[in-house]
Amino acid sequence: MNEYDSEILSGILQNDNYTLTDTPDNADVILLNTCSVRDHAEQKIHSRLGELKHLKTKNPNLKLGVLGCMAQNLKDDILKSKPYVDIVLGPDSYRSILQHLDEEDESVVDTKLLKFEVYEGLFPARKKGINAWISIMRGCNKFCSYCIVPYTRGRERSRNIKSIVEEAHRSVDQGFVEITLLGQNVNSYHYEDQRFHSLLLALTEVKGIKRVRYTSPHPQDVDEDLLKVHADFKPLIANHIHLPLQAGSNTVLQAMNRTYTQKHYLKLVDMIRHYVPDMGITTDVIVGFPGETDADFRETLKVMETVKYDSAYTFKYSPRPHTKAYTMTDDVSEKEKAARLTELIVRQKEHTLYNYRKLIGKEVEILVESESKRSPEELKGRTACNKIVVFPRGTYQAKDLIKRKITDAQGVTLFSRP
Ligand code: SAH
Ligand code: SF4
Repeated sequence: MNEYDSEILSGILQNDNYTLTDTPDNADVILLNTCSVRDHAEQKIHSRLGELKHLKTKNPNLKLGVLGCMAQNLKDDILKSKPYVDIVLGPDSYRSILQHLDEEDESVVDTKLLKFEVYEGLFPARKKGINAWISIMRGCNKFCSYCIVPYTRGRERSRNIKSIVEEAHRSVDQGFVEITLLGQNVNSYHYEDQRFHSLLLALTEVKGIKRVRYTSPHPQDVDEDLLKVHADFKPLIANHIHLPLQAGSNTVLQAMNRTYTQKHYLKLVDMIRHYVPDMGITTDVIVGFPGETDADFRETLKVMETVKYDSAYTFKYSPRPHTKAYTMTDDVSEKEKAARLTELIVRQKEHTLYNYRKLIGKEVEILVESESKRSPEELKGRTACNKIVVFPRGTYQAKDLIKRKITDAQGVTLFSRP
């Protein structure tokens, strides 16, 4: 989402005759688009700002901006510790960037959350490549007790379906062959009487798109209508779903306000596999939520063992201001969180390899992306179920859809070699 937002900002600036530079030393404007979801993300920005500060003495005209969730979270406090920052802009205030860049003197803090802002009518300046991000909804109404997003990004709002389809056409015209729909809870999309699966259906009609992906859906809003569209339009609608679990224990899930139990979640996974047996399923997991006992943690491992995800983003719980969990005691020690995380990662690696090895001997469809990191003789691409495959260069070109037999699997990579 931040990448997309940065492309929107880049679009606004380039329309006003700004150009991109690849080194901060040459820049007259430096904007850091930030994340607040964990404290670690904010700490990285604090040190980055410290590193950039000296450029202001070299170039007195340099404008330094902090944008996005951290701006929304800390507001004026950013200026208290870093008075050299010129612009603090929240996620709904990007339209005013040019006006603020023209202001001469005082630092400005603009963090109003606007109920209807979806950046309609603005054109993201996309980096060249295979995939175009398209934001379809913003904000979140779910209020998971650990999560700062509803406070930094405001309430849910969805874009007009027509303008999303137009943006998809424009992306194809610009040379993109894959689109990824984005939203804090992408499948909570709701525009007038149109829901998420209706949007996917509309996108299947856009000529030139080879794959449609989306992230992140919330388990609560995954329904049979959506799964039917997956089943009917595979692999154009890619058979991959990111289904954040967060925790396996019902006590923890309830304290997290996740709106499902372990049983519901596992039933949903069964339903997904009923409609799309080869769906690639990935997840997010948090360890060490307040009150999480070792037995609770074992429940998370149990779900992971049952589902066998293709991959998982795993996080140590990080207390975030404003949230309900912030008032709870962060009582799982750092050492215990680290131990749980390590155990989880070890198990996940086994599951990844288990799933990947099942594809050996099978033919898969690959969207060719680029040269492989290790050898110029080989290319890499992605299966519809979102697994990286390395194969001989041959006469293949980026953006080709090709079919190849998998011959090996190592780590998080599939290989198709003679
Ligand atoms: N809307 C998505 C997730 C968006 S945030 C969903 O509900 O699934 C991305 C991920 O960051 C979350 O899935 C969660 O695993 C992690 N996360 C959010 N807040 C966190 C916190 N306070 N500590 C640790 N991880 C957190
Ligand atoms: Fe955060 Fe929960 Fe909303 Fe996801 S659904 S963005 S985890 S509050």
